[in-house]
Order: sequence, then structure tokens, then C-alpha cells
Amino acid sequence: MLTFATKAVSKTTTILVVVLLCVIALKVSDPWAIRILRHNTFDVFQKINPNQTRTEEIVLVEIDETSLKAKGQWPWQRNILAELTDNILGQSPRALAIDIVFPELDRTSPSLIIENNPALARQLKLHKHNLPSYDDIFASSLQGHPVILGMATGYGTDQRAPIETTTSITMYGGDVRSTLPRFNYVLRNIEQLEKVTTQGVNNLAAERDGIIRQLPLLYNVNGTIIPSLEIETLRLINDATEIKLTAENNKLKNIELNSFNLAKSNRGKPWIYFSKNSDYSKVSANDILTGTINNTLFRDKIVILGVTALGIADYTLTPVGSNLSGLEIHAQALDNMLTNSLLERPSSFFWIELSYLLLIGIIFLVVHKRHGALEVTVTFAVMCWASVLISSSLFVFRSALFDLSLPLIFTLIMFVISVSTGFVTEQARRRKEAKIATQKEREKEARIRKLQNELLHTIGKSSVQKLSSSIAHELNQPLAAIYNFTNAAKKILDKDNLDQETIKPVLEKILKQADRGNEILRTIRDAAETGKSHLSALNINKIILEEIELFNDSSLGEKFYIKTDLSLELPNGTANEIQLHQVLLNLIRNAKQATEEIDRNDHELLISTRENPKGMIEVAISDTGPGLTPDQKKDLFKPFFTTKEQGTGLGLAISRSIIEAWGGNLWVEDNKKGGATFKFTLPLNH
Ligand code: ADP
Repeated sequence: MLTFATKAVSKTTTILVVVLLCVIALKVSDPWAIRILRHNTFDVFQKINPNQTRTEEIVLVEIDETSLKAKGQWPWQRNILAELTDNILGQSPRALAIDIVFPELDRTSPSLIIENNPALARQLKLHKHNLPSYDDIFASSLQGHPVILGMATGYGTDQRAPIETTTSITMYGGDVRSTLPRFNYVLRNIEQLEKVTTQGVNNLAAERDGIIRQLPLLYNVNGTIIPSLEIETLRLINDATEIKLTAENNKLKNIELNSFNLAKSNRGKPWIYFSKNSDYSKVSANDILTGTINNTLFRDKIVILGVTALGIADYTLTPVGSNLSGLEIHAQALDNMLTNSLLERPSSFFWIELSYLLLIGIIFLVVHKRHGALEVTVTFAVMCWASVLISSSLFVFRSALFDLSLPLIFTLIMFVISVSTGFVTEQARRRKEAKIATQKEREKEARIRKLQNELLHTIGKSSVQKLSSSIAHELNQPLAAIYNFTNAAKKILDKDNLDQETIKPVLEKILKQADRGNEILRTIRDAAETGKSHLSALNINKIILEEIELFNDSSLGEKFYIKTDLSLELPNGTANEIQLHQVLLNLIRNAKQATEEIDRNDHELLISTRENPKGMIEVAISDTGPGLTPDQKKDLFKPFFTTKEQGTGLGLAISRSIIEAWGGNLWVEDNKKGGATFKFTLPLNH
């Protein structure tokens, strides 16, 4: 059984080791599904505990539905935009980031209308140079102010190669370009506007599940590093002439903009910590154009201008569940950078998470090998709680994103395998045990049948005299008793003064012994007819005491001293009452006859009972007779083995057959007093 269990454990151990290796391989290869799963658990953290810090420095100017209704369809003529930016820049903001790209000239400029329609120019006698260009008007509105325009990266033909950046970027400690998002094309603004502003990439890229989580700070466009709208805005407001990049192992570690240090740059692609309501000061462009705003609203603020009107602006899903316009997403990202509340996922986390998975695997392997299903379940609960606790505390206290998903799934898989294989093993073990038990039972039945057959066969083969002597053996005792009691009764009757009270108990005893003879015959007949006897719950101690009384009654005059040591807490046993009396009588009679072989006057017979460690009732009958030689012990239970002149040699053979039919055993041991101790066991009655 032990080897069976050991084999099952080692099989499960192999499965657990294979699962552990698979999970490690998944962790290292990090396929898309695992990544999305991880990012979704990060979303849960943000949903439960969204960002609460918000700067008052940012003001949003929205070209919203009202503005479009008032000023007409988008894109607006740039003279209108110039009017808008004049009003904003007139209040001296720290910076104006325009989340729009102006890659083409404004066709509605009068100069362009004339240029594009020479016939009309001739007719109206107009010359291009006398007419205004709205792009020039817009450029002059922006000139001399801290304005950042958007740019868009993509794949395709380079519009104006090579790309010159207006910003100087220096790298320290290594080249980070290979780790930045790579593009070969950038959609730039028209020259007039590029000359008077600075630009940053304003692309927003959601992940495959449509949620935006990270925002690149720098881009690699054909080998040139281009900053994002946020980095360019930060550079401007910090009066930095260059962007200093510090690398470690060729990965971006730090971005320095004059005195401003952006530490949590997450290798150039930081995680935005979103707040649920992006309740920044928002102004409709229409209000600015109609002059209905406070004239200090933009002073020293960072203004972000963009389109939010439905149908034109893109809205993207965020981890906190809200759908935000690009303008709001840029605002939240910039806000994170200003308030140092970006989320962090240091590269060391990969190794820590890998070690954590290994640790979970090892713990499960050890617990599964040494302990049972309960310990495995406790380990499962503890590991789940540990994973949740570690990752949520890192999020709350360090704004750090520790992967919870893979450890949780791994813990669950390890638990299910450990427990289910445990169950399967247990079931298989029980099935095997049951099979063995049934087999043993069958073997036992076969042995009993063999013994009984042997007995019947021998009886059948032997003479009628032997058979009758076997019956006589059983009936001898009650008949002798009846004879003795009848003699006694006759003596009483012969006396003149007949005393009814004296004769009554003698007659009762005769009746009792006659009953006993009758019962013996009935039991022999029943057993012969059905091969089975009726079993019931019996108080064994009580039967022993009754048998002692019957025995002493039947050996009138020569009382034999029988000592008892009966367990008081003995449970009921399962046996046939008459047959049990028969067995006890056989053993007591044999013991008495054995003691008669040795002449001494301190003979003693002891009958004891107890519940043995195997959960059976054990009865022991010890005598002070001559004991048994090894040869005798060998043949003792065989039918017709006898050393007595008048013996039949059937008593022990019948007794053993009876006891074994009940599921017990009958055997003999030597005892300390030199005699024999016959012991038999009986099953408990449940
Ligand atoms: P029988 O009593 O008719 O001989 P049993 O089967 O009861 O038949 O006993 C077989 C033999 O076992 C006896 O003849 C005797 O030699 C031996 N025997 C039985 N009980 C004892 C005992 N308590 N002490 C010594 N020998 C015993």
C-alpha cells in the first residue's frame, strides 16, 4: 500500500514540475494573452484605487460641439484659430500645447483662393501678394510664445526627410534608440508653423483590447529621437534647451529637463495612473472667441488645446472604465509627470515575479509530497492571499505594478492538480484495498468451506460408529447431567417425606439440560441443512458466566474452580448463542480433562475477555494442565486427532470451523504456568 501511495505522489510531483516549467516558460516568453491578463489585473488596481492627485496647473481648451455650431465645420480657418490662440496667449500661460497637427496649408486663405483660381484673380484684378494668408496670421499669433504643436508618427513615405528635430537630445550611458517605438514616417506641420513653434508627437495608441495604459515619451523615427507632446511641453515650461537621456544597459532610465527629473519613465513608456473624473478646468473655444471668460484664467497655466467635439475627436477607453478624449488623456499623462504620480514597473519586477512563481511551485511540491489535501488547501488560500497582499500593497504604497494574475492562476492550477490527483489516488487506493479485502474474504470462505468439507468428508468416510460417536461427544455432557439429576430426583422421591421444594430445582435442571441437548441437535441439523447458523448480537461475558454455571451443574458433585477476568467495557459480539456455548463447553471440558492428567491440588482455570487492538473480542481459556508438544500443536485442530481413550478428536475441529465461520480465529498458545491457553476472537456487533 505504501508503494502504491508513493508511486501516486511521485506521478503528481512530475505533473506539478511540468506545470511549473510551463508557467516559467510562459513568464519568460510573455505571449499576448498573458500580457493582456496582467494588464487587466493592473486595471483592477486602478479601478479600485484610482489616482487622486491632480495639479491645478492644467487648463483644457475644447473645440467642442458648441464651438463648431458657432464657428462652422472643422477644420476651422486658421485666422479663427489665430484669434483663439491670441486670446489664450494674451494671458501669458506657461505653455500652450496644441493637440492638433497642421500638415497642409489652409485652403481658405484668400491668397490661396486666388492662387488656385487664376481666372478669378484676373477678373477681380487681384494679386496674391496683396492678400492675407491665414497660415501666416496663425503663425504670427503663435510666434514668440511657448507653443507646442502635435506631430503624428506612422509608417509610409517620409514626408520631408531627413527629419530635423527642433529640440536637441543628448544621451548618456548608452544608446536607447533600439528600445524606443520605431517609425519611419512623421507627419509634420507646415513650415510657417514649424518655424515659430516646437513640436511633439501626440499619437495615442490603445492596446489590442482597446484600452490605453502606457504612453511613449520618445520615438525613434529613422534613427532620430523625437519627443512626445508631453516631453516637449515639460521641456518648455522648465526652460530646458536640451533633453538629457540617461541610459542603463541601453535602456532609458531617466529624462532630465533642466532641473526637472522624470524618474518613473519606465524605459520610455510610462504607465499612466488615471483618475476617474478628469475634472480639469475646461473652457469651450467658443467662450474664448466670444470673450466671455475670466482674463486671468490661463495666466501661468499649462493650456492644452484640442478638439473634443463628437464625431471628430477620438475617444479612448481607460483602465478606470471611462472613455476619454485625446485631450483629457494628454492632460492626465502630463499631470502624472508633473505630480510624480506615474505608475512604476521596474525591470527588476520580472525577476522578482519569476522567483515568486518558482517559490509557489516549490511550496506546492513540498506540501503535496509531505502532507495531505487539507494542507494543500491551506497553502492554496495562503498563497492567494499572499499574492493579493503583495501586489495590492505595492500598488497602494509604491504605485508599483506587480503581476498578480500569473501567480494566482498558477496557484489555482497547482492546487487543482494536487487535490484532484490526491482524490484520484485515494479512490484508487480504496478500490485496491476493497479488492484485497474481498479477495481475503473469499479466501477465508474457501478455507472454511474446505475445512467443513474435510470434516464432512472424513465423517462421511468414517464408520457410522464414528459419526454417532461425534454426536455422542456433543450430547454426552447434557445426557450425563440428565442422568445424574434424574438419579438425584429418584433419591428424593424414595424418601418418605416428599418435599416438593427440594425436588423442583432438580427437575428444572433436568429440563435445562434436556433443552440443551435438544438445541445441540437442532443446531447440528440446521448447520447440516443450510450450512449457516443464525447470528445475533451477544453479551459474551454473560454467555461465559452462563456456560460456567451450566458446566458446573452438569459435572454434579465435582465442582471445578473457574476463575474469570472479564472486561467490563466489552462491547457486544456477533455469534450464534448455542454454537458459542458449544465452543466454550469444548474448551472448558478439554481444559478440565488436561488438568486431570497432572496430580496437584492448585489447578486453576482462567477465562478472560478483552477487546483486542484489532477491534475484535478476544476470549482466552488458560489451564494448568500439561500443555502441548509441538507435534500436538500441529495436528490439534485436525478432525479425529485425539490423545484420549474416549475422545473423538472432533471438538477442536468443530469449534474452529464455527469460530471461523463468524469471521474469528481459534488458536492455542503456551502459558506461563506450563499449561495451554486456547484463544478465540469474535467480531464486534456494530
Ligand atoms: P477430544 O477432546 O475428543 O480428544 P478435541 O478435538 O477436543 O478432541 O481435542 C483434541 C486433542 O487436543 C485432545 O485429545 C488433546 O490431546 C488435545 N487438547 C485439547 N485441549 C487441550 C488442553 N487444554 N491441554 C492439553 N491438550 C489439549
